[in-house]
Amino acid sequence: MIKVNVAEIKKHLTGKKILQYDVEPAELDILETDLPVAGLVHIDGELSNVGDVLLLKAKVSAVVNRVCSRCLKEFTAESYGEVTEKYYPAGSPGVENDAYVYDADIVDITEPLRESLLLAEPLRVLCKEDCLGICPVCGTDRNVQPCSCDTGTIDPRLAALKQFIKY
Ligand SMILES: [Zn+2]
Ligand SMILES: [Zn+2]
Repeated sequence: MIKVNVAEIKKHLTGKKILQYDVEPAELDILETDLPVAGLVHIDGELSNVGDVLLLKAKVSAVVNRVCSRCLKEFTAESYGEVTEKYYPAGSPGVENDAYVYDADIVDITEPLRESLLLAEPLRVLCKEDCLGICPVCGTDRNVQPCSCDTGTIDPRLAALKQFIKY
């Protein structure tokens, strides 16, 4: 968990605290199964007093282990999220249920940082934009070695039909 003491910045408008941390993924509640981070998570931002609320602005980045969804190659890539969130003093009127609140002088900024990094990860990753993938016929990684299988026109339904005919 990352908690920031805001006693100083609460004292005057425009007060702010620079946030620069390198933390283990576990400190952001990020498990290997959530996101396989290689190394530390970098946080670079600020928490500032803008009047009624405290404003958190931060960039979150980490090197992540990925698996290409076309050729299944493992590789690493930088993942990068941005956070802009308001923190309301606990008990202030008209604050919605899902808003971030803080009590006394301590602000827990773990959740938005965690979320921004998890959401930054694409659902479908490619090792490169034009990855050729694995040939569905012979299983060759076509980035390494081109094969001469005819896969261009086979749609899965037709492929199933062909198999049916063969036997
Ligand atoms: Zn690939
Ligand atoms: Zn092939």
